Amino acid sequence: MQEQDVLQTDKTDSPVHEEASNIVAHTSAEASAAMNTASLISAVSGLYLWKKSFIVSSPIPQASDANSGQPTVSDSDSGGTAVSEELRIDVDGRYPQMVASGVIHGGIFSRLHWIANMVESGANTWTGDIFYKEGSKTSFPYRSVRIQVIPNAFASQRKALVTLSGGGSTHRTRTFKFASPNFHTVDFEFDHVEGEDVLLDIKTTDHPNRPSTLEAEDLSVMTIFERAGFAITTTPGGRVPLKGAGANKLWSYQEMHDAMQKYWSHFASKAQWAMWVFFAGLNEEEGKDLGGIMFDDIGAQHRQGTAIFNKSFIADAPKRDKKPEEWIRRMNFWTTCHEMGHCFNLAHSWEKGAGPQDWIPLRSNAEERSFMNYPYNVKGGQSAFFSDFEFRFGDGELLFMRHAPERFVQMGNAEWFDNHGFREANISPEPRFELIVRVNRPQPTFEFMEPVVLELKLTNTSSEPQMVHDKLLSTMERITLVIKKKDKPARQYAPHAQFCWQPKNKVLNAGESIYESLFASAGRNGWEISEPGYYLVQVALDMDGEDIVSEPLVIRIAPPRDNYREEFLAQDVFSDEVARILTFDGSRFLEKGNDVLREVAVQLPNSRLAIHANVPLGKAYAKDFKVLELGDDANEAGITVAKPDSEESARCLGAALTDNMNAAAETLGHVDFKNYVEDFQDTLREQGDKLTAQAVRVEAHDTLERRGVKASVLEEMK
Ligand SMILES: [Zn+2]
Repeated sequence: MQEQDVLQTDKTDSPVHEEASNIVAHTSAEASAAMNTASLISAVSGLYLWKKSFIVSSPIPQASDANSGQPTVSDSDSGGTAVSEELRIDVDGRYPQMVASGVIHGGIFSRLHWIANMVESGANTWTGDIFYKEGSKTSFPYRSVRIQVIPNAFASQRKALVTLSGGGSTHRTRTFKFASPNFHTVDFEFDHVEGEDVLLDIKTTDHPNRPSTLEAEDLSVMTIFERAGFAITTTPGGRVPLKGAGANKLWSYQEMHDAMQKYWSHFASKAQWAMWVFFAGLNEEEGKDLGGIMFDDIGAQHRQGTAIFNKSFIADAPKRDKKPEEWIRRMNFWTTCHEMGHCFNLAHSWEKGAGPQDWIPLRSNAEERSFMNYPYNVKGGQSAFFSDFEFRFGDGELLFMRHAPERFVQMGNAEWFDNHGFREANISPEPRFELIVRVNRPQPTFEFMEPVVLELKLTNTSSEPQMVHDKLLSTMERITLVIKKKDKPARQYAPHAQFCWQPKNKVLNAGESIYESLFASAGRNGWEISEPGYYLVQVALDMDGEDIVSEPLVIRIAPPRDNYREEFLAQDVFSDEVARILTFDGSRFLEKGNDVLREVAVQLPNSRLAIHANVPLGKAYAKDFKVLELGDDANEAGITVAKPDSEESARCLGAALTDNMNAAAETLGHVDFKNYVEDFQDTLREQGDKLTAQAVRVEAHDTLERRGVKASVLEEMK
């Protein structure tokens, strides 16, 4: 419950009554004069983007009012490893924080976030020092930033030239294109229980207790967050039946969470800039005392849902208040903005130390007139609070919402990579390829200890032929595989060997696919998939700077059937030697690992692992096998050729491939199964057993045909 932020009454204090002394008369003329301030006009602030493809070879034209004598500008390099960059300039418009921040996306595993304080140093020019860095810092030595904005009457033509310097490195320049006057975009959906109001608008002049300087205007919840720097979209909400709260008509945390999953149009188990705001009567656990709550701390994604309880204490105006109706509306409006602030990961004003780690240390301010402070907890109570309250978030909160790393602020976000995989990937908006990662079985469930073989399928989804490297899927050079066990950090799979192939190009026609298998269970860093449980796997393929990312696949490793015996064997199976033997289809050197696999074949003959065990045992003895012998003396070292044992080889391969051919095709994967069968046929022919070789071919063909393998692949079978 620690993460749950609750707006509750302080039961020990009686509410301080509204005082009439702060009443200020406002006329609409005064109000419109106040509206007419230059600070509302944003000419510079907003989001700017740079992408590799944006690079312009010709110099950026100088604006007519720019300082003369300035050199013409162009990017200092072609981007290095950076594939895209974001820049947020925050120097004018509503509540300027006088900072700039940047995010450099350098491919799937590299991201750097910087923030700098800025001062105006010339026409359309700001300079300042970087005070915050997060991410891949080693490649980012810079300490200072200079930004020159090149204005244009057409917003889409506006540009920002950014020079990073200091830290002993050469200057780095980038030209960004203006993308939006807002820093981020967020979607709100407001749902409500039948019969409960959704209050989203308020007039600042409705209640007489307010700052004398407060603009008279209509404010909506959307305005509040627009002024915080967001472009707001809304999804039309609807009614949630009261029966969702159960017989007592009060909403428990679990019932609200269920309602969110059922009624929120955007509900998804992933981080997204979207939140669900639910207007209900009363909470079950806390009753009248709970005004609102950011209730969403169940499951992997948090901070996506919040509830406002219209019938709680926030509907009780102080006894002597002159405008109780208006007081209630304002309190309801305040509560909504407060709880939504929690969804942006804002802490309370008096407990700023509770913010995310890795963010700048913040000082608490128990007197701050922010949506994130409790009105009734400040000196002088709620009347003192509202007499100075300008319907806004504090500067530290705005800095956080606008400029903090996205994973801190975005709803549902958690540790990077935990829930949203390849978000740093450079994905084309119009991809020409599709990558699918799959397993050749109806349900992605594997036996305990069964090696996980994934099948990769790359399809040309464009309408014309395209060239690809023929070994594109065979080497791990361009493939990034991420494996994440449930509730564990994600791990990047490191293959045992990097093959160096002579790259040859291959034409892939429109709609045509290439396939490859990938042994995912173990790599250089040990066994990645071993213990029973759920694992998410996702693959990205680097296609010359552009990443093709598969949908994630969730696989399940079943618990052992025969606990003691399997667990006992597992201690030896999950070893580096066995991993290497399975990866390389056999070894005559790693005898300890071979012994383990022989033991598996004897002890668990019907297991899927036994099929995998018999393949390398058979293949190792199929042909001449080169063994590097290292003697005591350097002269004794040499390569000896071990003789094949075709009888033993045929026995093992036969057990692996023909005892239960359908199971073999399923567990080895169609791609590898077909290759092994072809090797097995060769061995049989070498032994002079052409009849068996032919029978194996026919049976394998029919097995794959029954399993739905494409006709073109079946035709290749010799
Ligand atoms: Zn709160």
